[in-house]
Amino acid sequence: MYKNILRTPGPTPVPEQVKEAMNHDMISHRSEEFVRLFHKASNQIKPIFGTEQDVFIIAGSGTSVLEAAVVNTISPGDEVVVVSIGAFGDRFVSICETYGAAVHKLEIEWGKACSADDLAQFLKQFKNIKAVFATYNETSTGVLNPIDSLAKAVHAHSEALFIVDGVSCIGGVQAKMDDWGIDILVTGSQKAMMLPPGLAFIGVSKKAWHVIENNNAPAYYLDLKQYREWYRKDMTPNTPAVSLIYGLSEVCDMIETEGFEQTVQRHQLLKKMVREAMAALKLPLLTNEQDGSPTVTAVCAPPQLDIEEIRKHLKKKYHLDLAGGLGQLEGKIFRFGHMGYCFPSDILEAVSLIECALSDYKYPYDLGAGVKAAQKVYSAHI
Ligand SMILES: *Cc1c(COP(=O)(O)O)cnc(C)c1O
Repeated sequence: MYKNILRTPGPTPVPEQVKEAMNHDMISHRSEEFVRLFHKASNQIKPIFGTEQDVFIIAGSGTSVLEAAVVNTISPGDEVVVVSIGAFGDRFVSICETYGAAVHKLEIEWGKACSADDLAQFLKQFKNIKAVFATYNETSTGVLNPIDSLAKAVHAHSEALFIVDGVSCIGGVQAKMDDWGIDILVTGSQKAMMLPPGLAFIGVSKKAWHVIENNNAPAYYLDLKQYREWYRKDMTPNTPAVSLIYGLSEVCDMIETEGFEQTVQRHQLLKKMVREAMAALKLPLLTNEQDGSPTVTAVCAPPQLDIEEIRKHLKKKYHLDLAGGLGQLEGKIFRFGHMGYCFPSDILEAVSLIECALSDYKYPYDLGAGVKAAQKVYSAHI
């Protein structure tokens, strides 16, 4: 018997009270009880998105709302800009291309954020951009884009919609969809939202609705106009993932109890603990402090270590589940997830297990140095 420690950047651990909430007796999705549940949960999610607009809930993984954002706004031949700083930016490129958009890709070196200036310079080359797509938190590299300044650049240099993938950070970082001028913001359930996989969320601005209403590309399951119609009755067009919505309501209660501002601060603290711990172990980080994500940290291999071997060893011997690198970073990094239901004590636990594995591989470091560095950050935190 053993306890698996899930520190991947999605899926993430689900709190006990959320599991209990999801165990609720099944109810009809056309009942009064469902209407009350849906009304409560869909209003509670709004402050997490920083919006007063409707946030629709779809049964699907995160990619379903990336696709919904594209299929509802883009027709074949439309010109779009996709800011790609890693594997999930590339996913937006693929989805846009699948639906026939003419994609101008602004590619940034993996491990770095896109600056407002990079985006402004890029946008100046084009006249007819219908939408700009960007990833808020690039999960493949552990980089948080400065999404508020990117939004400013989009609106200063184009008439385009600004469409943001917030899948691996919404719920753990500040998001001000309305104030920042994000037209579509999407996320999924299994990352910072502390739920199992299966729910996806999409917030839509008035400006985006104008484009959606005038877009004539076909959609069925992901047709947002259908979701809007049913949303008025606090229901969804098809059978929703009822159990997950019970869980969502509990998650929102938990975040309200902690205080969302506090939730955001906690993620900042976790980031700092992980970064300091890895630095003390002389494991290089892929990102600098400023670009580094509050929800996931990419750790590189020092020359003498096979990072993928360490990661597999950690899983096998110590039951610590970290994620490997994606695409061009495969075999070069491991990714340490610290989002959602994750606390300072979880970081101390994971760091100490990483140290055990490093000792097994005779990596030269002071035993306890990583834990000590993380403890220092935690005890200095007010
Ligand atoms: C996980 C993730 C996705 C995809 O979500 P799925 O639930 O696997 O479909 C998209 N974008 C980002 C940034 C992610 O981290």
